[in-house]
Amino acid sequence: MSKNQKLTMQEPLIKIGLVLPEDSMKVLTIKIFKPNSFLITGSEKDYDPKSSNKLIFKIKNEMISCKELNILSKEIKIKNKYKESDAKIKIYGLTAGRGFHWQKEISASYWGSLIIKIYDSNLLVYNEIFLEQYLMCVSTSEMSEKCPTEFLKAQTIIARSWFLANKEKKHSSLGFDICNDDCCQRYHGCNHISSHSIKSAKSTRGKVLAHKGMICDARYSKSCGGISEDYENVWQGEPVPYLRSINDYINDKTPFCSSKKIDESFLKNYIGNVDENGKYYRWQIELSKKGIIKNVYKTLKIKIFDITSLVPMKKGKSARIAKLEIRYLNELNKNKSIILNSEYEIRKVLSKDFLFSSAFEIEEVKDGYLLNGRGWGHGVGLCQIGALSMALEKYDHNQILSHYYSNTNIISLYK
Ligand SMILES: [Zn+2]
Ligand SMILES: [Zn+2]
Repeated sequence: MSKNQKLTMQEPLIKIGLVLPEDSMKVLTIKIFKPNSFLITGSEKDYDPKSSNKLIFKIKNEMISCKELNILSKEIKIKNKYKESDAKIKIYGLTAGRGFHWQKEISASYWGSLIIKIYDSNLLVYNEIFLEQYLMCVSTSEMSEKCPTEFLKAQTIIARSWFLANKEKKHSSLGFDICNDDCCQRYHGCNHISSHSIKSAKSTRGKVLAHKGMICDARYSKSCGGISEDYENVWQGEPVPYLRSINDYINDKTPFCSSKKIDESFLKNYIGNVDENGKYYRWQIELSKKGIIKNVYKTLKIKIFDITSLVPMKKGKSARIAKLEIRYLNELNKNKSIILNSEYEIRKVLSKDFLFSSAFEIEEVKDGYLLNGRGWGHGVGLCQIGALSMALEKYDHNQILSHYYSNTNIISLYK
């Protein structure tokens, strides 16, 4: 964290990428609700849209055109004139779950303003919104609004902390702070917002998790699988004092993220509609050698003739494999090997469907491998399903946060 991180501030206006260059979007369709709340700029004069018909933006000669508005410009801003306005813009055909096995197309509505640009012959779209309004949407995009209040409070505090600690900066070259997807934090607009989730966000306004007076880079994932993981086993770098492996239980040695605490069929009520086929506790997946060979070629462009073995070389405390060797024969029958150096790479390279986690045991079977796995996600920091189970057991958000992030406290950055 930077040394000059300020600990009092104004609520920031933030930028979130909604359409990225990799989405290869050439045509953008939106619909504006309460059009009188917006100003559309992109030409010499401002447009005040009168109707709420669909608007279609296309790339034409390296400019963005919109026939309905009679605009031809390099950049178009649909500016919401009022702070905390509930006027929204619906966007059709957004990509959710980019590159993961649950990738799909969604339509979602957003508060705040919308900026449309061109980047490498594709449309680049981002949302400009005040942080608190954004956070109201995140808690119910990450999980369902049916979750108990104390869970939503904890989720909102860590989403705010993660954003303000700003350690990852994955998209700064594109001119926005974060993206709208699992790569950063899931942000499916205000589609699932409810009075309950608004209340949970408002009651934690400006509050963040801190360690020794610094805002915590509060990582979290869906399910740790019983034991959470040390930061340095997932990302490169020094150990982080509050992102240490913990047993995900307090009294009875039964993990909060287990079917004994929340039945898997019951879980669907709380998890939102993202990875409906996901397994969050224990799972088994059979990978054929053929499938692995195909996916290694797709992801790494390396040709394998036959796999001889998969050898875990480094494991974290949660059983997540942090380093894995693929031993193989090449087309000339020579022994070769590939080393996968992170849990992310392991999940991406072994399976076209992106594995739920890298916490698995490997069993050799006919023509392939059977993976006996646990957990969903990187497993560092808060375990969302575990935290949900704690909230259902009436732990409050302070207890939840201190369980997952040791030596931390909650501080207020702005009123
Ligand atoms: Zn991102
Ligand atoms: Zn857990």
